[in-house]
Amino acid sequence: MQSTSTTLVTGGAGFIGSHLVRTLLQQGRRLVNVDKLTYAGNLHSLADLAGNSQHHFVHADVCNTELMVSLLQQYQPEWVFHLAAESHVDRSIDRPLSFVQTNVLGTASLLQASLDYWQTLPFAQRQSFRFIHVSTDEVFGSLGKDGNGDIRVGEAFGPASCYAPRSPYAASKASADHLVRAWNNTYQFPAIVTNCTNNFGPNQFPEKLIPVVVLRALRGEPLPVYGDGKQVRDWIFVVDHVDALISIAEQGRPQQTYLIGARHAITNLQLVMEICSVMDRVVPHPSRGGYAELITFVQDRPGHDFAYRVDPSQTEQEIDWRPKFEFSQALENTIRWYIDHPSWWQAILDGSYTIQRQGLASSDP
Ligand code: NAD
Repeated sequence: MQSTSTTLVTGGAGFIGSHLVRTLLQQGRRLVNVDKLTYAGNLHSLADLAGNSQHHFVHADVCNTELMVSLLQQYQPEWVFHLAAESHVDRSIDRPLSFVQTNVLGTASLLQASLDYWQTLPFAQRQSFRFIHVSTDEVFGSLGKDGNGDIRVGEAFGPASCYAPRSPYAASKASADHLVRAWNNTYQFPAIVTNCTNNFGPNQFPEKLIPVVVLRALRGEPLPVYGDGKQVRDWIFVVDHVDALISIAEQGRPQQTYLIGARHAITNLQLVMEICSVMDRVVPHPSRGGYAELITFVQDRPGHDFAYRVDPSQTEQEIDWRPKFEFSQALENTIRWYIDHPSWWQAILDGSYTIQRQGLASSDP
């Protein structure tokens, strides 16, 4: 659908945000991209948009409420997608207060600015305005184990699942979700909360499990797997997540929650083995039996959640969306993207704190 409406995206220089920005521009929307450019923000991910007059990049912190109010008044968006966040669980263990600052206070700041703006709109525009808060399945805590130490058959988070966040990252996102619901209820503000599973795809910062494994394998370095590698994560290709977010803005009911997932839950070890087998095929190493030989089990993360899995049925029934990408093909395409784009990741690795300090990565956002 072509549209000339304006959309404001926060965190649009990050992993998911860069895909969302590109898709919205392709749909003909004018785009205001507000990003603080933390270590995770990367304008190289948007390099192909240089010169696109519909893309307005604003280097700003969502915690600056006054600036957010003036941006909203200046650009008059119909939709706001809020993705800006500190997003890495391991960093939240080291520096939890920066997560509270951006994820909790930053969300409150943007919510209040958006409410002030929304209340000034004429009736028809108030009706069509949507604030989409992009959150995670980690707010629900961890699924349990069956008697064999495996994930229980069929168990998954659903819209009625209770909040039980267990890491500083998850708690900060849960707090933000509660703020959004309070603004819904108190001011009838038309916000929607989305809780998505683990994303993968191009442009993901190389502290997350898939890019870490690919880039370390390419350099012949150990592939770190936390604990016994039996933690279960539910994976979705980032383009499917972005399509769901846009469908929710178009068709979702204000003040509702939508769970997003692609029904592909596997253990971290299974995922790392699959990456190794793709790489054995795509970039075979002449002097090694196989990349799986590089797998190294490392000390588990403190408080590491055992399993997340989402049942997206209700979302699929309510909005016209289904994940389109088959996991193994999307994973192979993602691996090939990293192999084909060394200039994107080399600059990051040269100054990367997490990888050089710990050599650890996480499957969790
Ligand atoms: P990311 O870390 O790649 O990107 C975050 C972006 O936010 C960066 O560009 C960063 O510069 C920007 N940012 C951080 N603090 C800011 C601030 N105070 N003001 C303005 N911009 C700021 O994260 P991502 O993986 O793209 O995740 C985006 C959103 O989706 C996050 O809210 C995350 O919680 C949520 N989410 C992610 C996943 C996943 O698997 N990656 C899954 C579910 C939900």
